Amino acid sequence: MKNVILLAPPAAGKGTLSELLVEKYGYKHISTGDLLRNEINNKTEIGKQAESLMKEGKFVSDDVIVSLISKTISDNECDKGYILDGFPRTIVQAEKYDKLLNDLNKDIGIVIYLDIDKETAMKRACSRLNCPKCGRIYNKYSEDTKPRLEGICDDCNVKLTQRADDSEETFGKRFDEYMNKTMPLYDHYKKRNLLFKINAREQKNDILNKVIKLLEQ
Ligand code: AMP
Repeated sequence: MKNVILLAPPAAGKGTLSELLVEKYGYKHISTGDLLRNEINNKTEIGKQAESLMKEGKFVSDDVIVSLISKTISDNECDKGYILDGFPRTIVQAEKYDKLLNDLNKDIGIVIYLDIDKETAMKRACSRLNCPKCGRIYNKYSEDTKPRLEGICDDCNVKLTQRADDSEETFGKRFDEYMNKTMPLYDHYKKRNLLFKINAREQKNDILNKVIKLLEQ
């Protein structure tokens, strides 16, 4: 399968689309946000450095992120294809990633840009809930992603939680950080004919079908 880079502002639906692609094709899902939250839960040095930056909606350093990615994509599990959710987020990360791909003899695949405005993303983030056990993402205001029982995971039957950085204040900062530092990647990949833009406000199955066409063409 083609490797996928999901490029999108926070709360555009990267996590939900990744879940659907993992289910359909067995991709390995690599979310740098999840890798960092894991480091925080395990109280590692990286976790300690990342925690305060993430709480403020700021980016973690390029070197830390690239070393986490390098370790993860070198694993055999990634050989049949992987989805990058939240990486690269800066031009420096994209350049270091190109070098890494070259060293590992892997192909970049395609870049999918999920397009969303700040107001819609903010509404989504503030009503987004996650399962602490399986990581599934829900939204109580969206017909196609709300849980069957309010506040409870459909699969694990445990109480859903909200991410610490999904508050209105932090979310605004995260969105602005994205626009300043990550948006230049749009042109970077467009120029290389790798980027495909999809409207993130469409229903999740419509988005999935468009992505399937891109992956299978
Ligand atoms: P996410 O789960 O993708 O929304 O990421 C949550 C937070 O983790 C971000 O707001 C950043 O603080 C940090 N983070 C995740 N991925 C990266 C990255 N590629 N570069 C820098 N910081 C990142």
